[in-house]
Amino acid sequence: MSSPIIITGYETHDVRFPTSLSGDGTDAMNTDCDYSSAYVSLLTNSELVGHGMTFTIGRGNDIVCAAIGEVANRLVGKEVEALFANMGKTWDYLLADSQLRWIGPEKGVIHIATGAVDNALWDMFAKARRKPLWKLIVDMSPEELVNATVFRYITDAITPEEALAMLKEKEKTKSEREAHAREVGYPAYVTSAGWLGYSDEKVARLTKEAVSQGFNHFKMKVGADVASDIRRGKIIRSIIDDPSHLPPTLAPRDPNSPALAGKNAGPTGCVLMIDANQVWDVPQAIAYVSQLAEPLRPWFIEEPTAPDDILGHAAVREALRPLGVGVATGEHAHNRMVFKQLLQAKAIDVCQIDSCRLAGVSEVLSVLLMAAKFGIPVCPHAGGVGLCEYVIHLSLIDYIAISGSMERNVLEFVDHLHEHFITPCSINAQGRYNAPSNENEGYSIEMKKQSIAEYEWPNGTYWQSVKK
Ligand SMILES: [Mg+2]
Repeated sequence: MSSPIIITGYETHDVRFPTSLSGDGTDAMNTDCDYSSAYVSLLTNSELVGHGMTFTIGRGNDIVCAAIGEVANRLVGKEVEALFANMGKTWDYLLADSQLRWIGPEKGVIHIATGAVDNALWDMFAKARRKPLWKLIVDMSPEELVNATVFRYITDAITPEEALAMLKEKEKTKSEREAHAREVGYPAYVTSAGWLGYSDEKVARLTKEAVSQGFNHFKMKVGADVASDIRRGKIIRSIIDDPSHLPPTLAPRDPNSPALAGKNAGPTGCVLMIDANQVWDVPQAIAYVSQLAEPLRPWFIEEPTAPDDILGHAAVREALRPLGVGVATGEHAHNRMVFKQLLQAKAIDVCQIDSCRLAGVSEVLSVLLMAAKFGIPVCPHAGGVGLCEYVIHLSLIDYIAISGSMERNVLEFVDHLHEHFITPCSINAQGRYNAPSNENEGYSIEMKKQSIAEYEWPNGTYWQSVKK
């Protein structure tokens, strides 16, 4: 018998990319983002390594790395197979340091640090089984998947028994959905045409490019100025609603089809969404979006107000419903309890989980199960750095094993910084994410050593050259 594989240590890296120089990622709240990765590698007494990260936008990334070290320390000396055997229990253990708990609990720096570590462990688990992460999870039995999920504090919304029944119901048809997703990919949408820091010309050019690449859902940032939002939004709508911009291989989609009904799609079947990144109070959100509703006809307003304000989101949703505009949120919802309440309070039309603000895959599974039970589509937040690499796995799990549907869902796609990853995500000619297929890619988040050497802050070669 070979000796057990044990976690022997970890490395963290504070990696920052100078995206603030180009205006990438700019919105009404975040005006100078340096997309950053608080990156961790869990090391073992074997070849097996697990990589994970959480995303930040610059300053403070060092604080997250310090917290990652505190959480990762809990795994040193543990046998990996014992951890893999019940990832829900492992997650509870990661969270159970009675002193670290005080600087959360389950929110802020310590929680996103836990996300990086939990994701690294899942990456290691998937690599140990020679499967991409999504495949590892969809191949689990309903019982195993329930064991991998966190249920603490959400059993008033979903119990393990209910989750088990839901998963068993979907189990029979999993293989058909897996084959379908491998063939057609997972629907995506584009955000990078509509950053607030881009000129009108750049917005128009990028929108035309995105249409020609097959995308049919587009998001723009709003909230700095009504007149300018209407002007930019009309530019985008004039392009996406014009059949002459569609690629020759793609026919216009039916705006009344099941995939598009209720999304205010235009004549080509293209959909516009708007994102305020939390800038408004509740009455302001209602007043502002009411002005955009008619000229721009968005499907939803994303993050209209503070991410913790569950009842505020419910009020905005209620007020905007007669105008045909929905509400989406979740990229800053810091744990499953916030999602539970958003669902219970009927505050959202679309659930936007974040792969590393929630504390890793086990907590994401909790939210996917709750959203499926409440009948709310999950459209994960992505972009930044590494988030697109992560989320395709989560959406495939949602479609194949949990909700069973994907044609009304759209997964955010932003074409930045993928070149720094060894197995970057990819998009097919229909504007959909391809299913990751490399048996050694785990959670697809391993960063190139050269990128770390260049962009590690403050001593990487890029940052040293800027200093000079
Ligand atoms: Mg957003």
